[in-house]
Amino acid sequence: MAKIHNLGFPRIGPNRELKQSLESYWSGDIDASELDKQTETLRLNNLKAQENLDYVPVGDFSLYDHILDTSFLLGNIPLRFREQGISELDQYFLAARGASDQSNCCAAASEMTKWFDTNYHYIVPEINTNTSFALNSKKLLDEVRQARAQGFEPKPVVVGPLSYLYLASSTDQTDKLQHLDTLIPLYIKLFNQLAANGVEWVQVDEPILATDLCGQWKMAFKYTYEKLKQGNCKLLLTSYFGDLRDNLTTVAGLPVAGLHIDALANPEDADQLMATLAPDQVLSLGVIDGRNVWRAQTQALVEWLSPYAQQLGPRLWLAPNCSLLHVPYSVEAEQNLTHTLTHKLAFAVQKLDELVVLRSELNNPQINIKSPKQLHRNGHTGHNQALLDSDNSRYARRSTFVTRREAQRHKLQLPVLPTTTIGSFPQTSEIRRARAAFKQENLSASDYQDFIERQIRDCIEIQEELGLDVLVHGEAERNDMVEYFGNLLEGVAVTQFGWVQSYGSRCVKPPLIYNQVRRREAMTVAWARYAQSLTDKPVKGMLTGPVTLLNWSFVRNDIALNEVAEQLALAIREEVQDLERAGIRIIQVDEAALREGLPLREADKAQYMTWALNAFKLATAGVADDTQIHTHMCYSEFSDIIDEIIKMDADVITIETARSHLTLLEAFKSCGYPNDIGPGVYDIHSPACPSKAQISDLIHKLSNLLPLEALWINPDCGLKTRTWPEARAALSNMVEAAKACRQALVNNQIQDSEGSVTVTASPSL
Ligand code: GLN
Ligand code: ZN
Repeated sequence: MAKIHNLGFPRIGPNRELKQSLESYWSGDIDASELDKQTETLRLNNLKAQENLDYVPVGDFSLYDHILDTSFLLGNIPLRFREQGISELDQYFLAARGASDQSNCCAAASEMTKWFDTNYHYIVPEINTNTSFALNSKKLLDEVRQARAQGFEPKPVVVGPLSYLYLASSTDQTDKLQHLDTLIPLYIKLFNQLAANGVEWVQVDEPILATDLCGQWKMAFKYTYEKLKQGNCKLLLTSYFGDLRDNLTTVAGLPVAGLHIDALANPEDADQLMATLAPDQVLSLGVIDGRNVWRAQTQALVEWLSPYAQQLGPRLWLAPNCSLLHVPYSVEAEQNLTHTLTHKLAFAVQKLDELVVLRSELNNPQINIKSPKQLHRNGHTGHNQALLDSDNSRYARRSTFVTRREAQRHKLQLPVLPTTTIGSFPQTSEIRRARAAFKQENLSASDYQDFIERQIRDCIEIQEELGLDVLVHGEAERNDMVEYFGNLLEGVAVTQFGWVQSYGSRCVKPPLIYNQVRRREAMTVAWARYAQSLTDKPVKGMLTGPVTLLNWSFVRNDIALNEVAEQLALAIREEVQDLERAGIRIIQVDEAALREGLPLREADKAQYMTWALNAFKLATAGVADDTQIHTHMCYSEFSDIIDEIIKMDADVITIETARSHLTLLEAFKSCGYPNDIGPGVYDIHSPACPSKAQISDLIHKLSNLLPLEALWINPDCGLKTRTWPEARAALSNMVEAAKACRQALVNNQIQDSEGSVTVTASPSL
């Protein structure tokens, strides 16, 4: 009898209840005991939703993030949080989010970073030589007891010591593995406490097994799990987010009671492990895709899995390949999707139903095995030739950048150090209300159009007043840079409740790309044309790039991912060309998520980058030399992908620099980045207003790093989360700083016969 289990369930609740509870607590509307009551209800509902499983995960629920939970479980709470004289709960939120404006605490939040190749973010543990650990298992034990009292067979989920250390940041650059000997006894103690509470199995997550590990870390696996077997629980060593490759031999001989693998990533891993499995070892196969939303082909799965079931009996366990944290709660809530599409979908609740079906089919001896069907596996692995032939003329601009730059200078007549913004302006509650009213048909199309046009008019007027050189329309019509296009493209659907946790209380609602993607009609041209009609200054057209649309959506897995990228690229290309025809001289194609799609393994990166770059180029290369293409990326790690960034060949790239203190610009400098670049001169994430002096100072520094004629002056991201007074004040200082720097330049420079400044090399300011 094969058994079924789950690695983790969505925490956010069917209707984002967790978000509601957390935000009420943070704003002081409810107290800790009420928060506890509300989240307990959520946890119990989650258990209930999983009642048909043989083992239910416990400890996968989290008030913010499970890695932060692990830091608290192991007593690794940095001193700056402990010394505030606040409750453990508030220390936890302080570590997660930093101090709120009202509180008296002053401690910077811990860093947050992406969880492997997902769109979830975890709070990075901080360790150094002096870090001490102490087991703090009360919360987990309480949850275990509670689950048991409700009649469930709890399988606690803990992050394994190796993944924990690997994901931590060593604040004094010391070897993280030095802490292993302290951690191992703590884990053994925890396992024994769990066993004393009736726990048979513990799921020990070691997702780093899906990444490239050096010899030292591989050896640490043997060392650690040899010792952990002293504990009184059975350990299910759990790997996910990819196949094992060279880590398979590391895992195969370990003395653990069970192994869980992502069997969708590479079914051969299962065969290889079968050959080395100890006589009583459990093999858990992750066969339901926890990273995507499509229904499993249960019949094909049954055919594939029945030989394993026959050989292993109760030692075969089946599960999603990773936690269901990464998919929405339930399809049942969706009212607006077509019947056909609804039928293709499985969110978390439906995925558990699929496991139940699999179990009963596999445990039914009547199965007759036909020849196994081809399985549609994780769409993120297969590729075909789309976008992989590198010298396709459609990917290249007509002329080189040097020629284009001349044509663009002539056409645009911008000053040196041109100022611009990244696209969005404050999204006021008035804007949100109007969009909602239009969506619910409480506002007519023509009233809505009038409303948005008024927003655009105000926005252009303010930018003119501020003296910015390249304007934007402000994006008032967009709720989200991906969902907006998802709503308009054919072959893409937007859900009502398909929320997935991104971090803490923040969720995203990825569109579903379920069919051939086509552009029905122009998506942004009318707004752009209207905005341009109000001013002589150039207004940037504003689009989301194909790779970002792809990486922030759930993508069909019956065709290769790069083929979907090509369809998206062609749709955006049409839009780019329509904008150009409408008289838009500058077009920005945002690729905020280009880096996010990078595969976990070194060996897979080049292929992804090739088609991702070609997708961007296909989308943007179809314009004349004098149409200027911008792109924007809001992160700071470029050093390892700088060659690819060069190959994108955008005329201007705007990036985040304010928070990374210029270090990233070193990468641009040392590679001799050839095109124009706008390093964000202030951090839009902070409500604090940057002074003119601060910005001038930064521009001076930038001018020493990069050629002056290549430099643009802009904030580091869109302004939609700021208020109007904040945005105005900061932009005003930014424009003034740019003007002052230009003036300094004039004073320093030889002027040509017409009196304008010729900037050839990089003069100092
Ligand atoms: N154009 C978008 C904006 O300004 C870019 C957002 C982003 O980079 N995440 O909001
Ligand atoms: Zn950004």
